[in-house]
Amino acid sequence: MLIDSHAHLDFPEFDSDRDAVISAAIAKGIEFIVNIGSSLESSQNSVELSRKYSSIYAAVGVHPHEADKFDDNVCEAIAKLAGEKKVVAIGEIGLDFYKNYSGRENQIALFRALLKVAKNIALPVVIHTREAQIETLDIIREYMPLRAVVHCFSGDVQFLNKCLDLGFFISFTCNITYKKAQNLREMLKLTPIDRLMLETDCPYLSPEGFRGKRNDPSFVKLLAEEAARIKGISFEEVERATTANVRSLFRF
Ligand SMILES: [Zn+2]
Repeated sequence: MLIDSHAHLDFPEFDSDRDAVISAAIAKGIEFIVNIGSSLESSQNSVELSRKYSSIYAAVGVHPHEADKFDDNVCEAIAKLAGEKKVVAIGEIGLDFYKNYSGRENQIALFRALLKVAKNIALPVVIHTREAQIETLDIIREYMPLRAVVHCFSGDVQFLNKCLDLGFFISFTCNITYKKAQNLREMLKLTPIDRLMLETDCPYLSPEGFRGKRNDPSFVKLLAEEAARIKGISFEEVERATTANVRSLFRF
């Protein structure tokens, strides 16, 4: 059985058929889905989904895009939600200097605040980082030891090795199937099997052949097949290792 380690099933793209999407994923062999918070509201909804569906676990956090709207009350509310039974991580959190939807100073303040929450409650973190790799690792180092996954990995071998040296897991999305993603496939190949995680980041990043359409957790199967092909190992080996890795990081 596989796990989608990063999904956004609370998003409005799933409002009309959420139940059906979840049942279809389970039927395809996706045993668990970790639904990731991107704002306070999304984190609350993520927790609601984890209460409703036995196959869903939740992460709570505030995406760097939302940093301009972040304050102490939001931080307190996230810390409170983090104590809920099926909350397995703080995330997604990090820095996004590519889109810069929020100011950099605010992004850094938000990132620090939620790293502190994660540390206090001893939960792992789900890291989003784009065009901010050095800054992200510099900040996170201040809070070590921390357990973490770098979600939707993009970057070069230097960044990969730094993340591995810190003991982090590395998670890849369906964008490894894109024709131009040779570098990403190379990074997946270099990621040790005991650090590899798979995610859809749905509704975003549908695999090649389905681009422009909505992504959903059932595509983790295709992702695992692709990972097996890239690494030159069996599907079963990818399945066994990635599922064990997710369960070891998120402890469920
Ligand atoms: Zn995400």
